[in-house]
Amino acid sequence: MTITTPQAGTRGPIPAEEAGGLLTIDLDALASNWKTLRDRAGTETAAVVKADAYGTGIEQAVPALVDAGCGTFFVAHMAEAKRARAAAPNATIYVLNGFLTGTAATYLNFGIRPVLGSWPEIDEWAAFCRAQGKTFPAAIHVDTGMNRLGLRVADGMALRGDRRLEDFEPALLMSHLVSAEDPAHEINARQIEAFSAVAATLPGIPASLANSSGIFLKDMPRFSLARPGYALYGGNPTPDAKNPMEPVVRLEGRILQLRSAEHGETAGYSGAWTSKGRRRLATLSVGYADGYPRSAGSTDANVGQTGLAIVAGRRCPFVGRVSMDLIIIDVTDVPEDAVRQGDTVVLIGDGLDVDEVGTRAGTIGYEILTGLGRRYARTYRGGVA
Ligand SMILES: *Cc1c(COP(=O)(O)O)cnc(C)c1O
Repeated sequence: MTITTPQAGTRGPIPAEEAGGLLTIDLDALASNWKTLRDRAGTETAAVVKADAYGTGIEQAVPALVDAGCGTFFVAHMAEAKRARAAAPNATIYVLNGFLTGTAATYLNFGIRPVLGSWPEIDEWAAFCRAQGKTFPAAIHVDTGMNRLGLRVADGMALRGDRRLEDFEPALLMSHLVSAEDPAHEINARQIEAFSAVAATLPGIPASLANSSGIFLKDMPRFSLARPGYALYGGNPTPDAKNPMEPVVRLEGRILQLRSAEHGETAGYSGAWTSKGRRRLATLSVGYADGYPRSAGSTDANVGQTGLAIVAGRRCPFVGRVSMDLIIIDVTDVPEDAVRQGDTVVLIGDGLDVDEVGTRAGTIGYEILTGLGRRYARTYRGGVA
């Protein structure tokens, strides 16, 4: 018998039969969601693929989006931009977090565009382009309410006529919405107004404001480019209404053991959950080290608002704390012959969508997606052959 020792540091794909969790990513649904958003936006539509394409995998998601017709991508970091570039040799790629001093040449070498969000960044990019004798493209970010990245609106209004804009190619003017998922929030109109005012002073530069939810705002003007992220991956951009997107991510966890707890026994760390009567429990091979939030656990105080697993079509609540590698669920309501050791149960999917999983863990679906762990066996469906 030969025992193959994996080389130190290698991290190959995890075989499904060895995995505690099975993650399935539907690249056809991703492509279809992009088309839905493009049609809804009625403008050129980019794809935001930061954070490893919201946990789904840049190397798989980007080619599927290119194939669907997407030509512009946004990431947060240069390291992500390089991966996106390898996956999309001809696409336009922007780095949202701006550019770190001294990295201008890297942008040039990889054909990546920085999103300039401060005067020092604009100065450095302009000086770099002057020194090269060429006007390389970059986006300019104007902050209309987030107070995070970007020039203040007054500075945005001062851009027109600024000499530095002749040193490089201002290829995009952008801003980011604070509360687009809440269409009733008054800040939407203020941001649209402020951004429109800046854009009106720079008519030659394409403008971009809408994220996923922004595309669905009734009063959103048609700027040049929409920038959805979350909705591409199946998140609901309209939390007050039915989700118009197709699910992209499905997560299953494997049952390691079935057991029962007698009345008064506790389960999990700190004994935070106490059995009322005799309950049948199943232990799943997924935990917070897989990105499933610990805050989805249950205690005697919060029963009813915990994480869920779907077992044979029934929604079963988490029992006790989520451990690093394990989750206990209550399967008492599932017929005994419908649940066996080794079975998989659904943690995301079958109507339990990323938004609900996020809410039940006291967070948002974005954090669920971007936290999807590295120990799952990953399967991609559809996409580019
Ligand atoms: C993340 C991000 C987006 C995408 O937002 P979603 O809500 O995921 O659609 C767009 N623009 C900027 C600047 C971002 O940081």
